[in-house]
Order: sequence, then C-alpha cells, then structure tokens
Amino acid sequence: MKTESRAAGAGQAGAGEAPAPLILVADDEPVILALIKRRLEWEEYRVVTAEDGGRAVEAARRALPDLIILDVMMPVLDGLQACRLLKDDPATRDIPVIFLSALDDTDTKVSGLALGADDYVSKPFRVEELLARVRVAIRLKRERDCLRQRAEELRRSAEAASEMSMTDALTGLLNRYGLQRALQRELSEARRYARPLSCLLLDIDFFKAVNDTYGHAAGDAALVQAARALTESVRGSDVVCRYGGEEFLVLAPETAAPGAAALAEKIRQAFSTRLFGDGARTFPLTLSVGVAELRDSESGNDMIARADEALYHAKQSGRDRVEAAE
Ligand code: GH3
Ligand code: MG
Ligand code: MG
Repeated sequence: MKTESRAAGAGQAGAGEAPAPLILVADDEPVILALIKRRLEWEEYRVVTAEDGGRAVEAARRALPDLIILDVMMPVLDGLQACRLLKDDPATRDIPVIFLSALDDTDTKVSGLALGADDYVSKPFRVEELLARVRVAIRLKRERDCLRQRAEELRRSAEAASEMSMTDALTGLLNRYGLQRALQRELSEARRYARPLSCLLLDIDFFKAVNDTYGHAAGDAALVQAARALTESVRGSDVVCRYGGEEFLVLAPETAAPGAAALAEKIRQAFSTRLFGDGARTFPLTLSVGVAELRDSESGNDMIARADEALYHAKQSGRDRVEAAE
C-alpha cells in the first residue's frame, strides 16, 4: 500500500532534482490536520501546517508553498477570507488553493472558486480523493511554472536578439540601426529641454592602404582598436556608432558647435599620436572629421548630412583635420 502510493506520489527527487513540492495545510481541527499532514508526508510531499486562517496567510507568505489546502471554517480568518488575501498578494496569487469544508452547499463552493480557488473537497472526504486532487493541482502548477519560465526565456532572447541587431559585430559599437534609435532619443531630449546636440562624423584616412598593405584581418583589428580609442576619448553620455566601413559617428548631447569641434580635435590628436596594429606591424592612422550642431528646424538626419558635407571638405582640404559645418 505504502509503496504503491509512493510510486504515484510526489515522485521523490533524486540528487540534483527539484525538491519535493511543499504543501501548506490549514485546518483548525488538530486531528484532521495531523491526518492530512501524515498522508501527504507518506507521499513524500513536504508539509507545513497552520491552525487558523490568519496563520495560514502568514505561513503562505513566508514559505511560498506549491499548494495550499484551506479549511473553510476556521477561527480568526475563515478560509474564504484567507483565500481573498492570498489572491490579492502578488507573491502568493499564483499558488493553487484547494478548499476543504463540511459546508457542502453550492454557494460556498461557488464563492470559493470565484475567489480563485482551484478545487473544492467536501468533508468528510476520503483521503484518496484529496491526494488525487493534490497531485493534479501540483502537476498543473508545475506545468504553469514551466510555461512561465519558458515565456521569460523567450522574452530575454528576443531582447538579446534586438540588442544584437543594433550592435556592430566587429567593434561592438552601435550600428546604423542602433544609431537611429539613439538619435531619436537624444533628439527628443534636446528639444524637450532646449539643450544643444552635436554630431561628429569621423572617417579614417586612406584606410584602403591598410588592407592593401597588411591584409584585411589586420584592417579589422585596426578598426577594433580605432573603435576603442574613440570610445575612450568621449564621455559616457556620448553615443558612439560605427556608421559605415571605416566611418564612425559620435552624438554629443549637451554640446554646442565649439565644444563639438574641440572634442573632434581631441579625438583627431589622440589618433595621430598613437600607433595601430600590433607587434612588429604597427602603423599610424589619421582621421578626418566633420562636425555639425543640431539646428532648431532640422531633423537628426539633416544634421548628419551637414556633418557629412563638412567631412567632405576636411578630406578635400588635405585630411587629418576637423571641419565644422556652415
Ligand atoms: P579616404 O581617406 O578617402 O577615406 O580613403 P579610404 O581608403 O579610407 O576610403 P575608401 O572609401 O576609398 O576605402 C575605405 C576602405 O575601408 C576600403 C574598405 O576595404 C575598407 N573597409 C571598410 N570596412 C572594412 C572592414 O570592416 N574591415 C576592413 N578590414 N576594411 C574595411
Ligand atoms: Mg576613409
Ligand atoms: Mg569612408
């Protein structure tokens, strides 16, 4: 008998498996409480008990059991009142509740189930029936927890995918799509608080020669170094993005044209005074930069287009220099 019920019971955990389900039993009749507790423990459930509705609510909040068996007629708080409190509390809302009561009238059953109880067992009951209902409730709870966990995993991987779609794989900087998102955000902040916003468009000079001389892999490594040098030269609140192959864009919030030109000059100098590449194969790189401050009437992309024009002038007038937009 005992072996049989064990086989059908909580399916006791082996090493490394989840612990046996925890069940809270609340009943003011000590004999019934002891009986249910013993039978559940035979099935290898873990059991906590409470003698009234108030203690049941406390115990549920403390122990967060997998199932609550509530007697309807109890002192302090009756089962229905306790159930209402449990269902109002986000911490205990999803724990299934089975009512247990001598009140076999339909009204009580209906109010219990309407409060969010999952099942109802009439006293006097046969323990086998209660155990069968316990098994079902625990199984449904486990399935629901699994679904919820799966939904949470899906939500997280969707979030990671969308983050990845905004990130450049080589440098880890924002890509152009990520830039558009950041641009929208910075633009609305700048407009809302009437604060300046500038952008810097930076293009590495004669980068094609790096690939031609040292190979594409060395070119890639130099782009990663350039991205790092760029990130290290700007403020945490500045947005750095890989705008194209060897072109980068910096959005500088709270920065007007003179400040943006100074920042561009600082970055240009940081590039021109260091070497890229590694080991024996190091080489210098220079940058041409176009700078523009957002105008009242223009879009973010208009501002970038003006920075691009300024960049073109910087290239035309000899490279390794900063040009501000008109
Ligand atoms: P300029 O001074 O006029 O900007 O000359 P440039 O050679 O830098 O410009 P151009 O636009 O002619 O060439 C850009 C080069 O950048 C060519 C391209 O192969 C290289 N490039 C773009 N993206 C990557 C990349 O992801 N990896 C590597 N290794 N090279 C890249
Ligand atoms: Mg270039
Ligand atoms: Mg280019």
